[in-house]
Amino acid sequence: MLVHICCSVDSHYFLQRLREDFPNERLVGFFYDPNIHPYSEYRLRLMDVERSCRKLGVELIEGEYDYESWLNAVRGLEHEPEKGARCSVCFDRRFEVSARKARELGERRMTSTLLTSPKKSIEQLKEAGERIAAKEGVAFVTVDYRAGGGTQRQQEEAKKAKLYRQDYCGCLFGLTQQRVQQERPLAELFDPVDGRTLPGSIQERLALYEERLRLEEAGRNYRIVRHKFLNWRLLYGWVKRKKETLPSHILPYSVMKRRYTSGKVECESGGLHCFNREEVRFMTLARYNALAGTDYASLEALFSSPPAFGLELEVRQKAGLDPWDLSPLVVLEEVPEGKLEILIESETWRDVREKLVPL
Ligand code: SF4
Repeated sequence: MLVHICCSVDSHYFLQRLREDFPNERLVGFFYDPNIHPYSEYRLRLMDVERSCRKLGVELIEGEYDYESWLNAVRGLEHEPEKGARCSVCFDRRFEVSARKARELGERRMTSTLLTSPKKSIEQLKEAGERIAAKEGVAFVTVDYRAGGGTQRQQEEAKKAKLYRQDYCGCLFGLTQQRVQQERPLAELFDPVDGRTLPGSIQERLALYEERLRLEEAGRNYRIVRHKFLNWRLLYGWVKRKKETLPSHILPYSVMKRRYTSGKVECESGGLHCFNREEVRFMTLARYNALAGTDYASLEALFSSPPAFGLELEVRQKAGLDPWDLSPLVVLEEVPEGKLEILIESETWRDVREKLVPL
């Protein structure tokens, strides 16, 4: 039987139950989910499904990540709510390709781990699965592993196996709607060109789950713990003097009440130049290098390849700011006299992050 797999939390329990119910059936997992956005999240979910299938001894095939054709399929349905018309097309698309794969492999039956997802309608999936599988001469197997406490056991299994738990269904449109409702920024879409790993980002989670695999291969025990923290992202910003933009680097946790202000530097103390508006502080590149232990020759070199996020938090503190200080801290080549204009647009929000603790 070909088993279309959407994520490890759904597949890990589902595959074990299928094994019990179909003891003579060979199970082949098929990860075909081009709906998942961004690609880093796709890789993360796939990596965890691979780990789960390895543990269960189930063969896994990766489908094509043909994101553009998925986008074309749902065109015009971007604003549909979850469980609406876009989701129907999304199921159809994934079932079409899965059914074709089942036929290619000579499998007579197929099913999908989507059936065990509490947020999906079993009836909707059954209708789509049967209709589409029949076109390829394959039977769609509908099982309900949610009933009779199944959902709770699935959650327990996920916890026991330390599976990666995503917190959105998968596509850009569902994610956008969810974040708008939660009044949270779309942090999943930030992937800085400078390659820096931001706290609470998908890239950070990818690194964590890769490290987890290394620990497991080395036979080391570990825990994954969650903690709350204040997150921050810079959307954009600049510093201008006489309408000319000055090369600048804005440090993490720089927050302005209004996104724009103008004024002048009033004083200097301990290498920090105090602006007379919005508690902005400036420092020179030379001072930054001294505090960070770096040797950037120019602002361009700094903002195209900045040091790790954590190191810049240390720079803030070494510069004399408290750990909870959200004053804007901006690096310039030299701090000029006269009027300056500053624009900083950033987001801060309460977030949760995972940490790997080797035991
Ligand atoms: S919300 Fe989920 S099921 Fe619906 S279209 Fe997006 S990824 Fe597909």
